[in-house]
Amino acid sequence: MTHQLFVNTSQVVTCGGPPRARRGHESTDAGILRNGAVAVDGENIAAVGPREQIERQYPDAELIDCGGRVLSPGLVDSHTHAIFGRARYEEQELRAAGSGYMEIARRGGGIHSSVADLRKRSEDDLFDVALPRIQKLASYGSTTIEVKSGYGLSLDDELKSLRVIARLSRELPVRLVPTWLGAHEIPLEFRGSGPGRRDYVRLLIDEILPAVVKDDLAKFADVFCEPGVFTLDETRAILDASRSAGLGIKLHADELEPHGGAELAAELGAVSADHLAAISERGIAALAASGTVATLLPGTMLFLGRDRQAPARALIDGGAAVALATDFNPGTSPTVNFPLILTLGVSQLRMTVAEVFIAATVNGAAALGLADRVGQLAPGYSADLALWDAEDIREIPYWYGDRRCMGTWIKGKPLTHRVLPIT
Ligand SMILES: [Zn+2]
Repeated sequence: MTHQLFVNTSQVVTCGGPPRARRGHESTDAGILRNGAVAVDGENIAAVGPREQIERQYPDAELIDCGGRVLSPGLVDSHTHAIFGRARYEEQELRAAGSGYMEIARRGGGIHSSVADLRKRSEDDLFDVALPRIQKLASYGSTTIEVKSGYGLSLDDELKSLRVIARLSRELPVRLVPTWLGAHEIPLEFRGSGPGRRDYVRLLIDEILPAVVKDDLAKFADVFCEPGVFTLDETRAILDASRSAGLGIKLHADELEPHGGAELAAELGAVSADHLAAISERGIAALAASGTVATLLPGTMLFLGRDRQAPARALIDGGAAVALATDFNPGTSPTVNFPLILTLGVSQLRMTVAEVFIAATVNGAAALGLADRVGQLAPGYSADLALWDAEDIREIPYWYGDRRCMGTWIKGKPLTHRVLPIT
């Protein structure tokens, strides 16, 4: 098979380096090659280097003219809740007018309304509503997307959600990574005078987890570890069981209050601890000393109108590995625009442009256990690329809210029809 050469770039942002998360100040360099070229052999990258050298090396290759633009690895969105039914736009004005979580729930909103809605939908219906959302996420430059269950909260509805992810994975070229988040919330039927939260934790561990693993429906298990949701002990029990059953583990931790979620993630060796807007000094130190990636979701805090953001600088300066993600979900972060999250990384989290790119590629991949496969333009990596309508990498977070992604390739194949003609 002939090789493909991506040529006539202004910058090739390689994000190249070792096949693991970049910690602390390892992220100061995004590995930019001016007038570089990328050679692709089938599904994988064969070579990256100066254009003349690569063209000499592959004289018979098919040329893809990048039009003097920026070429980067496809983005890795390592935290989404993309399997949901109806949107929840009516909650935004209520929140702006000062309604709290309880008031919104009393008016029929909040996560329990998403649960009630998802339970009513058939698997086909859920697939139909999810498909364009995934395509839209991908159109902004993401080629790898983690997708969680977590609006089912029953055996049948969690399995239904995960089967939809599996079907999306089969039918779309985008690389999806399924995460089981049965521990997203305690469902309403476990809150009355009948079965209680302990029974729900038992259901998660004894019935839902084995069914998820038996059908190979998830790569990771995740728990919403937060006061009022799942306690540290419950989180530990669910994640210990999940790990023993062969799943990788993740936590939603310290989003609203510091209560030891980050420390628990580090202790358990979780692949990532996510949110962390309220992480403590001890939590920062624990993550910095661990292999756990700190996944920050600044879009959520922006959308909720909170003034507090996760302390990205303290995490990076302390030596932690930081990833960024959209947290795409119907309640607190209904955005499909990952580059906008990069803007927030710079303007709200005070990260550099190199840091936000590494956070959205190499470190996102590490947060999914894929750091040796995706997130870099380097020989042997999957040929997952994004072409940007920009001459300089700094334009991507600068033109905030704009869709600058001209096209993506996954395993060497173009995802959209908006790619440039082959010359
Ligand atoms: Zn989340």
